[in-house]
Amino acid sequence: MSCSNIDLKGYFLAEIPPAERRAVERHLAACEACRQELERLELTRTALLSVREEPVPQRIAFVSDKVLEPSWWQRFWQSAPRLGFASAAMLSVAILVHAFTRPAPVPPPALDRAEIRQVVDQQVAARLDAAVSQALAAAEQRHREETARLLAAAEQRFELQRRADMVTIQENFEYLLKRVNVLQVASVYREGEP
Ligand SMILES: [Zn+2]
Repeated sequence: MSCSNIDLKGYFLAEIPPAERRAVERHLAACEACRQELERLELTRTALLSVREEPVPQRIAFVSDKVLEPSWWQRFWQSAPRLGFASAAMLSVAILVHAFTRPAPVPPPALDRAEIRQVVDQQVAARLDAAVSQALAAAEQRHREETARLLAAAEQRFELQRRADMVTIQENFEYLLKRVNVLQVASVYREGEP
């Protein structure tokens, strides 16, 4: 019996009837290659069994089988470094949100010399207008006061002059009146002369 006619896998998996198993065993006793192949199958099964019996890591269990409780994530979340990690995580989220929502810094407006000069001129003109208006108001006030003073003085002079004139008129009138009286007396005397 040649190697190609041997169902080594069926023998290994115990899927062949006993008569065929005995034939395989006779071949194995005479064939070194098939004995080595059977040995590799045994080593493979041993390795598979050792892996299967090893406890499955919790992280893989969390990803592959969600019914396993508690998950590595839940146990981690309930562990001591939870608060520090939570704070760091929230801080990271806050920094990210801030970075994405922070308004772009407004660039300072470009300095326009002409614009600045215009503003300065406007302010200077406004201050100058105010100063001129104030000076004019003050001058006007002084002018009014001076005018009033001059008017008062003029009125006073006029009054004095008027009084003086009145006195003069009075004196002249009295003088005239005396002259008239004198003339009348003289005429009476003349008329009465014999
Ligand atoms: Zn063989």
